[in-house]
Amino acid sequence: MSAEVIIIGWLAVCFVGLFAYSIGRRMGHKEGRSAALCEAPLRLRMDALEKGNCPICNSVSTHATWYNEREEVIR
Ligand SMILES: [Zn+2]
Repeated sequence: MSAEVIIIGWLAVCFVGLFAYSIGRRMGHKEGRSAALCEAPLRLRMDALEKGNCPICNSVSTHATWYNEREEVIR
């Protein structure tokens, strides 16, 4: 094998590796975005229930019953 063949082979291996990395990165971004879209409402609701105020409009639930607190959080 000559040195040129070895260099071209290494460049081809590097190119294929970078191409596979870019495809994997794009797929990872898409999967992460869909997972975030699924988790965001649950996370907002969890924050609202834990802190007692709405994380979007910052309204504080002043109702005493569990049902009314739940309604305030949903709004
Ligand atoms: Zn709100």
